[in-house]
Amino acid sequence: MINWRENSALDGHEQVVFVNDEALGLAGIIAVHSTALGPAGGGCRIWSYAKDEDALTDALRLSRGMTYKNAMAELPMGGGKGVVYRMGADRAACMERFGESVEALSGAYVTAEDVGASVADMRAIARRTSYVAGIPKEGGRAGGDPSPWTSLGVHLCIKALLGGDVANCTIALQGVGAVGFGLCKLLLEEGARVIAADVSAANLERAAGIGAEVTDVARIHTCEADVFSPNALGAGLNACTIPEIGAPIVCGAANNQLETEEDGARLLARGIVYAPDYVVNAGGIINVSAEYLGESEAAVEARVRAVPQRLVRVLEAAKTEGLAPHEAADRIVRERLAAAKRV
Ligand code: NAD
Repeated sequence: MINWRENSALDGHEQVVFVNDEALGLAGIIAVHSTALGPAGGGCRIWSYAKDEDALTDALRLSRGMTYKNAMAELPMGGGKGVVYRMGADRAACMERFGESVEALSGAYVTAEDVGASVADMRAIARRTSYVAGIPKEGGRAGGDPSPWTSLGVHLCIKALLGGDVANCTIALQGVGAVGFGLCKLLLEEGARVIAADVSAANLERAAGIGAEVTDVARIHTCEADVFSPNALGAGLNACTIPEIGAPIVCGAANNQLETEEDGARLLARGIVYAPDYVVNAGGIINVSAEYLGESEAAVEARVRAVPQRLVRVLEAAKTEGLAPHEAADRIVRERLAAAKRV
C-alpha cells in the first residue's frame, strides 16, 4: 500500500487517483496538480520502478512540472500526469481500464503519450474516454505522436543558444529514444557532430545508423561538447554529474533534469548555461493541447517556433534578476498562476 500522505512531492495537488485492477495486473496513478488554467494536460508514462512509492513520487513531480510547463507555454491547460507502473499481459485491456479512470475524472485530466507509451496505447484509452490526445488526425489537424514537435522545439533552442547555427558544433545526446532520435536527425541534417549514448542497444544502433558517434552512458555528460542534451529520464543533473559536465550549455527534453533545487545553483556556479527543461520541451504538449482543442498543425508549428524566444526571455530575466534560470522560469510561472487564480 502506498503511503501517499507522507510523500514529500505532494504540493497542493488537486487530486491523486490510484488505478488498480488486480485481475488485469494493472497498477497506475493519475495525479492532477492544477486545473487553474484549464484541464490538467500531461502524458501517461509506462515504466517500472524499484518501489511503488517511487511511481507516486514520479507522478507527483511530473504533474507539478506539467502545470509549470503549460503555464510557461501560455496554453489553456493545467498540469497532470499518468503513470502506469505495473502492466498486465493484456496491454490493450489495461489501457482501456486506465481510460475508464481518465473518463471518471470528467475532463479534469487529459492524457497522451509519454515515455513507454505509444499511439496504440492512446487508441486503446480512446475506446473508453474522449479526454485523450496523441492520436493521428487528417486534413492538417493537429494530432498524433507529440515527440517530433518536442524534438523540433529543443533543436530550435539549441540553435538559438549557439547563435543560430549548429554546423560544426558538437552535441552530446543522453538518450536517443523518440525525442532524442528526432533531435539527432535534425542536428545531423544541419551539419552538427552528434555523440550519443543510450541504455538501449537498439536505439543507439539506430542513431549510429544515421551518423551519430556513440559513447558509454556513464560518460556522455563528460564529453567535451558545445551542448550536453539530456533526453532520457530525470534527475540527471546532480551533485555527482554537474562537476563532470564537459559542455558550457545544457539543453534537452528530459523532464525534471535537476535532481534538487541546489543543482540549478551548482550549474550557475560552474558557469554552465542551463536551459530550463520545461521551457524548452513544450513542443509535445503544445501539440497535445492543439489536438485536444481541435486546432491546426500550422498553429502548432507557429507555437513551437516561438519556444526559443521564451527561453531567451527566461535567460535574460535570470541575468537581470541574479537568479538561476530555473528560478527565473518558476517566478514567471508563479506570477501567471497567481493571476489566473485571482481571475
Ligand atoms: P523514450 O522512452 O522514447 O526515450 C528515452 C530514451 O532514453 C530511451 O531510448 C531509453 O533507452 C533511454 N535511456 C533511459 N535511461 C537512460 C540512461 N540512463 N542513459 C541513456 N539513455 C537512457 O522517451 P521520449 O519520449 O524520447 O522522452 C525522453 C524524455 O523527454 C523523457 O524525460 C520525457 O519525459 C521527456 N519529454 C518527452 C516528450 C515527448 O514528446 N515525448 C515531451 C516532453 C518531455
